[in-house]
Amino acid sequence: MRKISLIIAMIVTFSLSLHAFTLGKLGNFEFKKVTKNVWIMHGPPMNPSVENEGFMNNPSFVEGEHGTIVIDPGGNYNVGKKIVAEYKKATNKPVLAILNTHKHGDHWFAGKAFQEAFPDAQSYAHPNMIKASKDGEARVWYNILEGLSKNLKGTDGPFAFPTKVLKDGDVLKIDGQTFKVFHPERAHTDTDILIEHTESNTLWLGDNLMDCRLGGMDESSSVFGNIELLEDILAQRKGYKKYDLYVPGHGPSGEMHKTIDPFLNYFTVVLKWAKKGYADGKESYEIKPEVSAELKDYHDWDEFDRQMGKHLMKAYSEVEAKDF
Ligand SMILES: [Zn+2]
Repeated sequence: MRKISLIIAMIVTFSLSLHAFTLGKLGNFEFKKVTKNVWIMHGPPMNPSVENEGFMNNPSFVEGEHGTIVIDPGGNYNVGKKIVAEYKKATNKPVLAILNTHKHGDHWFAGKAFQEAFPDAQSYAHPNMIKASKDGEARVWYNILEGLSKNLKGTDGPFAFPTKVLKDGDVLKIDGQTFKVFHPERAHTDTDILIEHTESNTLWLGDNLMDCRLGGMDESSSVFGNIELLEDILAQRKGYKKYDLYVPGHGPSGEMHKTIDPFLNYFTVVLKWAKKGYADGKESYEIKPEVSAELKDYHDWDEFDRQMGKHLMKAYSEVEAKDF
């Protein structure tokens, strides 16, 4: 009898691993219950690539009594189908809603696969996110991500644009779960929402927080704004509380200082040097080696070499703009 159950266990394990969401040597990915009724699949914190199939964010869901609320479903339709398959291993409940933190496609494009599997799910975002995405950002991100991962086929025509809006201060109640919405005017982008799940005391920060990787900023972003936001969260100002869990857009989740301090410190150092360089009348490329030396703890972060110089230039332009 014991032998038979061992064989059954082996077959089950084998068949599960056959259908695991595996990305080569990056390993297997699955939803894990991280606290109370919160599940997260932490993606590899690296740039989108053929190897990771364009999956590198942190899709999450909150489990209610009758259904779930998904946050940032993932980076394209094809990995989305794999993420949906993993979702179905974690729960039998339907998705009731999808909350999207910002306009970048590596976070929301997989919503298409979730909406295909759960047609009644309502998709939410800040109005700026919906407008920017429809006005061309979705296409821009499709092209960026297709260039890097070659896995975007099926993600468009049409894109899974969110249809419901969430604004700063909104409190969304779904299936007995409470979500408080924060919108910093300008931080990672001008389309961001941060999401507090009150019952589990968790905060999703979108890409206003990253760990182990750096990402691009654009003309809608603000280094000043991103720093101010993270300082507000640490100081528990503007409605932010002390949370049990902080979830970044990329990289591991964790407790307050361990999760927030590295990224905040990175931008603080970049801005400090931008102010100094500007005051000394130096170009950003002239001070880049000194900035890089002070940021030596970040050299192993994915994309450091490509992004740090750009962030420094961005900080310069903001310092200059404030001077006028
Ligand atoms: Zn982003």
